[in-house]
Formats: sequence, structure tokens, C-alpha cells
Amino acid sequence: MVTALLIVDAQLDFTEGGALGVDGATAAFRRTAEMLAQAQGEGRLLQEYPLIVTTQDWHVDPGSHWSEHPDYLASWPVHCRAGSPGAELNPIISAALRTVPPERLVRITKGEHEAAYSGFEGHDASGTPLAELLHGRGITAVDVCGIATDHCVRATALDAVSAGFSVRLLSDQVAAVDPGRGQSTIQELREAGALIV
Ligand SMILES: [Zn+2]
Repeated sequence: MVTALLIVDAQLDFTEGGALGVDGATAAFRRTAEMLAQAQGEGRLLQEYPLIVTTQDWHVDPGSHWSEHPDYLASWPVHCRAGSPGAELNPIISAALRTVPPERLVRITKGEHEAAYSGFEGHDASGTPLAELLHGRGITAVDVCGIATDHCVRATALDAVSAGFSVRLLSDQVAAVDPGRGQSTIQELREAGALIV
């Protein structure tokens, strides 16, 4: 199995204090950073994760996904405007990735003109969709972490299963908008065939 790490939407707007801050996001990012530092310190990072993918919500004009009266289910406060500071990766994650060779890193953006919860709706800088890119790099499995368990992590993990990848959810490296929905999402992912670790 050749595994990619998918770090979903580890962005400032989804961090506590951001436009759509999620409680527990900072703690989740710290655990991801610790995992990466440990693997790197032991010289097994590139073997464990020959590819690391970050996804970013990257909205230009996402229609009703943004709302002045959000319901926090299908509509949300303005967040992750393309190019804005809030759309940037949390520095905990960018710092953790600083020593990863650039050819082992892929940045995926999604949701320019619509809601896009799943990283598999996104593409790299040259426009290649995520699934095609992973297949092209010989990736057969993905480990998923990031924000938010009950939305973008959920959609990304389910799409990864559907696309035929072996999927593990790194359950101590995620945080949910709604903790109750976060728990039911974990059950849903387990039933869909993801391994919860
Ligand atoms: Zn969004």
C-alpha cells in the first residue's frame, strides 16, 4: 500500500477565532504536526507518506454557500475567500510541512464557484483533479485528518472510499463543527469501510 496523507482544510478561517472557527482545530493541527515531526525525526516520513496533500476551501463566489443568515448546515458565514489571510493554512501546519520536499507536497484548492466539501472536488495548480493526481502518483491508500469531521473531512473520506482508496481516519487529528454530528460521522465512515485509528 502506498499512502498519502490528506490534510483537509487546515485553514485559519476554520481555526478558533477565524470566520468559521471550529473548537478543537488547533489541538488537531498540533497532533498532526507532532505526528509529522516524529516520523521525520525517526527518518520514516517519506516512506510512510510519499505524498502529503493539503486541501483548501478557496471561494471566489460560492453562491448560497455563503450567507448573511447561515444555518451552519448548508449555508455559512463568509469564509476562506480566495487569496485572503483566512484562507491560508494554519501556521502550525505550514511549519510542519516546511521541510517536506516540494515534489512530495500537493496543494489542492476547491469551491471557487460553489460549495465543495470534498477535497475530491478540488484540483492542483495545473487543474488536475485530486483522484487523478493520486492515481498518477501510485497512491492506493489515504490517511485523512483536518477540519471539519462532520463536513469536509466526512465528504473527503467518503469520496476516497468511493474512488477505491483504502481510507483511515486519524480520529485524534480532526475536529467537528457539531461534536454530536462528529461522532455520528465517525460511525458513518466506519460503516462505509474506513478504518478509524
Ligand atoms: Zn466553504
